[in-house]
Amino acid sequence: TVSMDGCLHGRVLRVHGLQSVVQTLDGAIYRCTVRRLLKSLVTDERSVVTCGDRVWFRPAADNEGMIEVVDPRHGILTRESRRREHVLVANVDQVVIVLSLVEPDLKPHLIDRYLASARQGSLKPIIVLNKSDLAETVPLQSLIGAYSQLGITTLLTSAKTGQGIERLRRFLANRSSVFSGQSGVGKSSLLNAIQDGLTLRVSHVSDVNQKGRHTTTTAELIPLQFGGWVVDTPGIRQMQIWDVRPEEVEGFFVEFHPLVPLCGFPDCMHTHEENCAVKKAVDQGLIGSRRYHSYIGMFEEAKGKVKHA
Ligand code: GDP
Ligand code: ZN
Repeated sequence: TVSMDGCLHGRVLRVHGLQSVVQTLDGAIYRCTVRRLLKSLVTDERSVVTCGDRVWFRPAADNEGMIEVVDPRHGILTRESRRREHVLVANVDQVVIVLSLVEPDLKPHLIDRYLASARQGSLKPIIVLNKSDLAETVPLQSLIGAYSQLGITTLLTSAKTGQGIERLRRFLANRSSVFSGQSGVGKSSLLNAIQDGLTLRVSHVSDVNQKGRHTTTTAELIPLQFGGWVVDTPGIRQMQIWDVRPEEVEGFFVEFHPLVPLCGFPDCMHTHEENCAVKKAVDQGLIGSRRYHSYIGMFEEAKGKVKHA
């Protein structure tokens, strides 16, 4: 057993080979190696310590240290490589889903896809609708209302005028957030508005879309001046739904959950079946038809993937 006497607690900002850069609560930076015993516990990873880990380390001279214990992880971002899940970042709290209202135009069905992948990763989603300075916001009330009803925070922002930026800061404070969204929606501009000079590395969709052709990317946590971290990991900036089976798609639509047991067939997929409680609720306006169509789209896509697999 390990004695943690004299150890400090910190957060791993990034890992370079066997060295980890660890930041303590008071902001001091240490370069740490991993205790040999810890390393031997590893099964198939090169390093036990991952970006985002919370660790106990024994400090030494010159801001060096030895990691003794890794705290249990939650909220893991993974990436598939060679058919294995590979942990990219540990202890991520939330995903900030950025969409622009115009240029590029808002695509509401995309929101549901991002929400599904957040749910798949057990991350709390926050929706940010950016470029509010360019859009008429009144027609958006119903969209914002619909997501609020699902318990999801939806913020209107403008990186240009600063609208909503202070609120966004409050949602980022003391949490670890990963930003997600199509290119051009204003992620970089928002980060820069949140904190001067804050940027993420740019990635290309092809990095993640073409399996087996991943560029090597290391994840990194960027500390925020007001507390909290932004996750910089090029590989997952365009989040994807990996390997979802058709019957799993309903799980991403929380408002379906109480109704599913009321469907006439135990394995109702809520597409063409009779006595479907979900479809009834859509007809009665209890479930938004836009959400239902997102469900159908994702269901069909999942079915198509299974066929080709
Ligand atoms: P990213 O690809 O998601 O990082 O998007 P960028 O931050 O690079 O922004 C794409 C373009 O949109 C740039 O020309 C920005 O100046 C512009 N932009 C970003 N946010 C806003 C905004 O809130 N309002 C306006 N009018 N333009 C914005
Ligand atoms: Zn049904």
